[in-house]
Amino acid sequence: MAQLIDMGPPTPTPHVLPSLLSISHNNPFSVGTAREICKICFDVNRVGFHVPDEVWQAAIPEYYGRNIVCLTCFTRLADERAIPWDHEIEFFPVSLVSHFGMTT
Ligand SMILES: [Zn+2]
Repeated sequence: MAQLIDMGPPTPTPHVLPSLLSISHNNPFSVGTAREICKICFDVNRVGFHVPDEVWQAAIPEYYGRNIVCLTCFTRLADERAIPWDHEIEFFPVSLVSHFGMTT
């Protein structure tokens, strides 16, 4: 009889070139990119954003608390809960080039 094996949470994969990797001490999921990593989908959060606390708390399950959640996951969860997230949202996009200060 087949048995399901719990492999634990998915292992995040860094989404940057290996040459850009370094060690990050404050977030094991960032694998040294130091870029914000979404706690839900483990992708890089390329567009930071800010919404009022009441919008965040209504949209994000308590389990995730104040962890990093990317714009895609946030808007999906908010839409699923019929939260009007677009009224007071501010955006802070960060490209990889800008993050590493490589802009000219
Ligand atoms: Zn996400």
